[in-house]
Amino acid sequence: GEVEELRAQLEEAQLPEKIAAKVEKEIERLEKMPASSAEGAVIRTYVEWLLALPWTKQTEDVLDIAKAEQILEEEHYGLEKPKERVLEYLAVQKLVKKLKGPILCFVGPPGVGKTSLARSIAKSLGREFVRISLGGVRDEAEIRGHRRTYVGAMPGRIIQGMRTAGTQNPVFLLDEIDKMAMDFRGDPASALLEVLDPEQNSTFSDHYIEIPFDLSNVMFVTTANVVHNIPRPLLDRMELLTVPGYTELEKQQIAQRHLLPKQKKEHGLEEEQLDVLPTAVLALVREYTRESGVRNMEQQLASICRKAAKAIVADPKAAPVVVDVEKLKEYLGPPKFRYGMAEQEDQIGAVTGLAWTEVGGDTLVIEVTVMPGSGKLTLTGKLGDVMKESAQAAFSYTRSRVKELGIEPDFHEKTDIHIHIPEGAIPKDGPSAGITMATAIISALTNRAVSREVAMTGEITLRGRVLPIGGLKEKSLAAHRAGIRKVLIPKDNERDLRDIPESVREELTFIPVSHMDEVLLHAM
Ligand code: ATP
Ligand code: MG
Repeated sequence: GEVEELRAQLEEAQLPEKIAAKVEKEIERLEKMPASSAEGAVIRTYVEWLLALPWTKQTEDVLDIAKAEQILEEEHYGLEKPKERVLEYLAVQKLVKKLKGPILCFVGPPGVGKTSLARSIAKSLGREFVRISLGGVRDEAEIRGHRRTYVGAMPGRIIQGMRTAGTQNPVFLLDEIDKMAMDFRGDPASALLEVLDPEQNSTFSDHYIEIPFDLSNVMFVTTANVVHNIPRPLLDRMELLTVPGYTELEKQQIAQRHLLPKQKKEHGLEEEQLDVLPTAVLALVREYTRESGVRNMEQQLASICRKAAKAIVADPKAAPVVVDVEKLKEYLGPPKFRYGMAEQEDQIGAVTGLAWTEVGGDTLVIEVTVMPGSGKLTLTGKLGDVMKESAQAAFSYTRSRVKELGIEPDFHEKTDIHIHIPEGAIPKDGPSAGITMATAIISALTNRAVSREVAMTGEITLRGRVLPIGGLKEKSLAAHRAGIRKVLIPKDNERDLRDIPESVREELTFIPVSHMDEVLLHAM
């Protein structure tokens, strides 16, 4: 019967004495139950969990730094800093045997390779890999499980992950740690804190399992899109490695060296059966995707592979399929994005700003129209409170400078001003659109066009001073992506320019400004 089978499994599992004793006790209880009782089922499930967990099983680490480096290089292009840090980590691990922290956290926009880098770490160490997503987790029980007295009780996600791993020392990825929520059912962050704390995690207690479980050999890695949503105590335990997004050149390399070969393989195509020309890859980057990472590009490449596979299956003589820009249009339809602002006309009252959102940098066009009225300032589009305040500041600054700007002194009594930020999928907020809004207002009031080649970012004070902003690197990548040529940045951000990749710096002119007067000089 089933009891004998469980005993056989217990024998085979070679559990530590304490756990074996617990399992034996539970099996004895089960024996006394009527065959199909509900309580019996609960006990059986519990016994199965205890038998399935890796109480002692470990994999031997491959601590060969050269080999690890080779694996990291093979699987990812660029990402120098995170790779370097990972190798250091492995080196220290080799020296101290049991490394207690720090926990690495990869931070960056979607599709830049955070999850896949964690997977490569596991591979290079020769460890099992498990991943759980913390996105939307709001209940402590999701981390720590429910007590068995609770109907339908289950262990929490950590223990579930350990069962999947099947060993005591996997690389365990806690994905989207910034998307965790908190409510009346308890605080998942504090449960997670215990998981990550090397002083406590050798005796991690799951409410369902009850017996302390040793997590101290697990290598935890976490990922996040943004830092500011991560609870402070968790943040203190982690070492942040930022991955800011890729340049055009990097994306082309990633496509040719990694994504295309990978997709070909997944679609059963031989290497030489499909060739995507460099011009087509560039068009893909510029006109079919607009993103910080490479996820959409990978999807488009998958789509190309599907179409090529179909063509070859229909007619073997179609191979090799060569994809140039024309073929790209045939396969993917007309371009989805217009590259380059330069060919568009300069416009009155429309100015390109740069924003920094959870998904990386982005351009946003701020539009202002003026009409006869009574001095109303209207704001529409998806803007947050901080942005509204900066619109007010931009407006007040304009009012204080009517004389110098050649605007009618009583314009604010006779005109309505409407500021509109076309809705993107991602709501934008922050003070960094201040100078963009002021420029758009002044352009609309003075009827002077603003150059489409220019983008800008900077906070504005009531007196027109330009204050520093965050995320310059991400914003520069976005400007470059959009084909902008000239970027006005706050003077105080000049030192951040050294973080900007050279291929981007070569093609963009950065103009540091400290006052609105300079902004207007360069923009109009
Ligand atoms: P998210 O925040 O949305 O979870 P992510 O940063 O975890 O995004 P991944 O899923 O790891 O993104 O990456 C998306 C795809 O792009 C994967 O197929 C990954 O292998 C590939 N990729 C990303 N960066 C690189 C790179 N530098 N070299 C090679 N491939 C890459
Ligand atoms: Mg991910």
